[in-house]
Amino acid sequence: MAQTFPSLPPVPDHSALEREILAWWDEQGTFDKLREQNRGGERWSFIDGPITANNPMGVHHAWGRTLKDVFQRYKALRGFDQRYQNGFDCQGLWVEVEVEKSLGLNSKRDIEEYGLAEFAARCKERVAEYADVITEQDRRLGRWMDWDNDYHTFSDTNISYIWGFLKAVHERGWLYTGHRATEWCPRCGTSISQHELYAGEYKELEHPSLYVRFPLKEREDEALVVWTTTPWTLPANVAAAVKPDAEYGLREGQWRLAHEGEDYDRKVEGEELVGLEYAGPFDDAPAQDGIVHRVVSWDEVVLDEGTGIVHIAPGAGQEDFELSRVHGLDVLVPIDESGRMLAGFGPAEGLSTDEAEDVIIEDLRRRELLVESGTITHRYPTCWRCGTPLVFRVVDDWFIACDEIRQPMLDANATVQWTPDFYSKRMDDWLRNMGDWNISRKRYFGLPLPLYPCDCGELNVIGSRAELEERATAGIDQLQELHRPWIDDVTIACSACGKDVHRIPEVGDAWLDAGIVPFSSLGWNNPEWIEHGYATGAAKGLSGADLPDHEYWESWFPADWISEMREQIRLWFYSISFMSMTLIGKTPYKAVLTYEKLLDEHGREMHRSWGNAISADEALDSMGADVMRWLFCEANPGQNIKFGYGPAHEVKRRLLTLWNSVKFFVDYANVSEDGEAGELEPLDRWLESRVEQLVAEMTDAYERFWTPDLIASFESFVDDLSNWYIRRSRRRFWDGDAAALVTLRHALLKSLVVIAPVMPFLAEHLWRVLRSEGGPESIFLVAWPEQGERDEQLLAEVAETRRVVDLGRQARATSQLPLRQPLRRLVVQGAELSRQHEHEIREELRVKEVEFGEVEATELRVKPNLPLLGPKLGKELGAVRAALEAGDFEQVNGGFRAAGHDLSENEVLVERVGREGWAVAHGDGLTVALDTTLDAELEVEKRVLDLIHELNAMRRDAGLELTDRIVVTLPQGASDLLEHADWIKDEVLAVEIRTDGGSEVPQIAKA
Ligand SMILES: [Zn+2]
Ligand SMILES: [Zn+2]
Repeated sequence: MAQTFPSLPPVPDHSALEREILAWWDEQGTFDKLREQNRGGERWSFIDGPITANNPMGVHHAWGRTLKDVFQRYKALRGFDQRYQNGFDCQGLWVEVEVEKSLGLNSKRDIEEYGLAEFAARCKERVAEYADVITEQDRRLGRWMDWDNDYHTFSDTNISYIWGFLKAVHERGWLYTGHRATEWCPRCGTSISQHELYAGEYKELEHPSLYVRFPLKEREDEALVVWTTTPWTLPANVAAAVKPDAEYGLREGQWRLAHEGEDYDRKVEGEELVGLEYAGPFDDAPAQDGIVHRVVSWDEVVLDEGTGIVHIAPGAGQEDFELSRVHGLDVLVPIDESGRMLAGFGPAEGLSTDEAEDVIIEDLRRRELLVESGTITHRYPTCWRCGTPLVFRVVDDWFIACDEIRQPMLDANATVQWTPDFYSKRMDDWLRNMGDWNISRKRYFGLPLPLYPCDCGELNVIGSRAELEERATAGIDQLQELHRPWIDDVTIACSACGKDVHRIPEVGDAWLDAGIVPFSSLGWNNPEWIEHGYATGAAKGLSGADLPDHEYWESWFPADWISEMREQIRLWFYSISFMSMTLIGKTPYKAVLTYEKLLDEHGREMHRSWGNAISADEALDSMGADVMRWLFCEANPGQNIKFGYGPAHEVKRRLLTLWNSVKFFVDYANVSEDGEAGELEPLDRWLESRVEQLVAEMTDAYERFWTPDLIASFESFVDDLSNWYIRRSRRRFWDGDAAALVTLRHALLKSLVVIAPVMPFLAEHLWRVLRSEGGPESIFLVAWPEQGERDEQLLAEVAETRRVVDLGRQARATSQLPLRQPLRRLVVQGAELSRQHEHEIREELRVKEVEFGEVEATELRVKPNLPLLGPKLGKELGAVRAALEAGDFEQVNGGFRAAGHDLSENEVLVERVGREGWAVAHGDGLTVALDTTLDAELEVEKRVLDLIHELNAMRRDAGLELTDRIVVTLPQGASDLLEHADWIKDEVLAVEIRTDGGSEVPQIAKA
C-alpha cells in the first residue's frame, strides 16, 4: 500500500493513550468542531441531572456519566444538534454537613456562633473546589460537556425560578404549614422528608426495652403495664391505647394482653378499659400540668410485641400524633431541635435522648413504676447524611399538597419511555404513594423559602428576585445574593395590610433546586436572552452560563432523553416532573434510562471502611476510561453492577483481540507492495456484509438505549473478524493481497465508528492509525455509517459454518487428539447451509473429507435424573438405572421407556457420545462426528505440521522480519519429511531445505 501506517506495540497502554488523545482533542478543538458541524441540525435534547459538587466523583457516578456520554456521542455522530450543559447541585444539607465536618462544627449553635455569612462563604468555596475536581474527573472519563457553562443550582437565577414555582403552588392553594410528627435528625437539627428517609440506612441498634406501670386511678392496686424502647418519650405521655376487641387479663395487679391457657384474676375486653384514668409516669413534671391521662381505644394496637397496651406520646411519635387528632389529646414535644430534653420534662432535662435513658429508668425504678428493664436490638432508621439515629418530633413544616397533581403525574408517566421498561411501574408506585412534599428545612445554606407570613393572616409569597426588589421595604441594598444571612434582613410590605413582614427562617428541600432546572437553565418565560444571565448570585464567577430566552426553551423542552440512577425515581425524576406538571402540565422528559447500584466485584457494597472501595481517580488511572466505560456498558442496567479490577482485567484481555486485528493489518499493510485490488473473494464479500450487519445491530441497540447489546454485537463481530476472516485469509495477507487488505481496513474503520461512543479513546486512536490521509481528522467528525446492503444468505451460511467448526473443535478436544493431527473424515448433520463451505470446514478442522448427512457414529447414553426420579420410582429406581446403563431402553414419545417405566425428557440426562473410533459433539440442533482413526499418511502429515510450527517459532525467536527468507537444515531422522519440502518451504518462507546428520534438532539461517 502507498500509505504507511503507524505501527502498534503488542499491547495498548490505555492510560497513556487516553491522556494523549485528551491532549490532542484539546489542541485540535475537536469537540468544538463537532458542535459546529452539527449546529442547526435536527435537535436532540438531553438534560443533565446535577451532581452534588461536594466530594470527588465516585465510580458509581462514573457509570451514569458514561451512559450519558455514550448516547450524546452517538447522537452527535448522527448529526444531531445538542446541548451539553453539565449541572452542579450546590446547596442544602449535604453541602452544609461536609462543611461542618471540615470546620469541626457539630451543632446548629456552633454554626450560628461561627457566623452565617462566613459559613455561606465556606459552603461556596467547597462547591467551587469540588466542581473543579469533578470536571477534571469527567474530562478524564471522556465526557464531552460544555464545561465553562455549567449550571449551578445555587445561582440567584435558579432560586428566582423556584420562587416562581412556589408562588404558582400557593396560587393553587397547595402550600400549607403542617403541625406534624416527622422523623428528625437531632444532629442536623432538621426534619427528614419521606424521600430522604428512604435514602437513609436502617441500622441494627441496641435500645432499652422497658415495662412500666401506669397505676389506675380509683382502682387501688391495679395498673396498666406498657412497653417502650424510648424512655425519653415517657415524660410526654398523655394516654394509653388498647385494642377494643382484644382480651386483657389482670394478674398480680397488672393489666396486660391476655394469653390463652394462662390464669388471670380477671379478664375483660379492651373496650371495658377505655376511659379509665391513670397516673402518668411523670405527673410531677411541670410540662404535665393539667394533663388528664386516660385509656383510649385504637384498632391498630400491635398485639405480637409488648403488652398490648401502648404508651401514647403524640409529640414524639407519628402514629401517636395521628391518634391525638382522633381523640383530642394534648401534644407535648419533649425535645428541642438538637434532641435534648426540654425544661419541664422531668429528671432528664437538658440531656440528649441517649443520655436521658439511664436517668429516666433510675427514676422509674425509685418510684416503683419499673416492672422490668432490658435491651432490644432492632432495625432503626438513621439520618441519610450523618448516620445519626432519627427521632420523632412534632414540628411546623411547610408542605406542598400533592393530591391534585398525583393523577396528572401518573398520566404523564404513562407517556414516558422507560429503559428498562419495568421502572415505569416503579415510578407509578412512587407517585401513587407519595405523601405531601415537605419542602422546608430548618437550616442555613439552602434555597431561602420566599414565604412572608403576616399577623393579619396573609401569606405573602414572592415569585422572583425582581418582585422582591419591588416590594422590599428594607435591607435590599445589602442583599449580595439570595442566601442567608443577607436575605433575612430584607423585609417586604404585606400585600393585604401594608405592614412590614419578615421571611420565615427556613430554607428549601434540595430537590426543589434540581427540579426547576428544565425551566431555569433553558430560559422559560424569559423575554430576552441574557449573556451570563444564569451565573448569578453565588454562581457568579463559577460559570459563564447564559440565561436563554423563551424561544430557546420552546425548542429544547422537553428533554428527549435523561438518564440517572434508579434512586432518582423518588428524587430528581419526581421533582422535575412535579414542577413541570405544576407549571405547564407537560412532562419534562420523553425517555429515561435508569440503572441500579454499583457493587464490588464480589457483589458487596463498596465501603471505605471495608477496604473494598475504589475511587474514580484510582480506577481511571489503573483501568483506563475505556475499560471502565466498557464495563459499565456491558452491565444490564436493571441489575446491580459488579465492578472491580478482576472484571476490568477481563475486559482488557478481550479488547486485545481488536487491538491485535488492527496491529495485524498494520504489520502486513506496511510490508506489502503497491498493487491494484483484484476481484473480491467470497470471504471478502462476507466480511463486507458482516460489517453491515454490525452497523445495523449497533444502530438498533443505540436507538433502544440498550448498551449490553452494543457490547455483545461488537464482541461477536470482532470474534468473526479475527477468528474467521483474518485466520482464513492469512495466506493472502502474507502474499500482500490488496483486496484482502482493503477489505480488512474498511471493516475495521467502519466498526470503530460504531463502537466509538462506548470507548472513545481507543476508537479514536486506532481510527487515526488507519484513517485515509485527507479524510476527517477525528473519528467523531465522521458521519454515522449509512446502512449498506448485505447478503443475508452468505451471513447465515458462514454463521452456520462457524458453528460446525466450533463443534468440530469440541469433538476433537474430547478425543484428546492434538489440533495438528490431520484426520480422515467429518460427518455433519443438521447444517445444510454450511455445505457451500465444505473446503473451509476441511481446512479449519484438518480433515480430508466432509460428509453431510446422518451421524450414525453416536451412541445415546441415558442416566436417571435422581432428584426427580428417586422420589417417583422409589425402590424401582435401581432396576431402571441398571436398564438404562445397559442400553436396554426404547425411545417413546420424546421420552424413554426402561424396565417397564415411562420416563419423560426431564427425568433423564441424555448424552450423545461417539462410538469407538469417533468423536462427537452436539449443540443447537447440529451434530458433528470426527473419524479418529489414524493411518501412516496422517501421521506423517502431523509431523510436517509440527515441524512447520517449530520453524515458525524459531523465526520469531530469531527476530526475523515477516519478509526474511531462510535456509532450513533438518536432522537425518526427519529426512522422510523432505517428500513435503514444497509445502514446508511455502509455510516458513524457506528457499532451501536440506538434511545433514550433524544435529538432533532442525536449524534455520537467514538466506
Ligand atoms: Zn443528620
Ligand atoms: Zn398583613
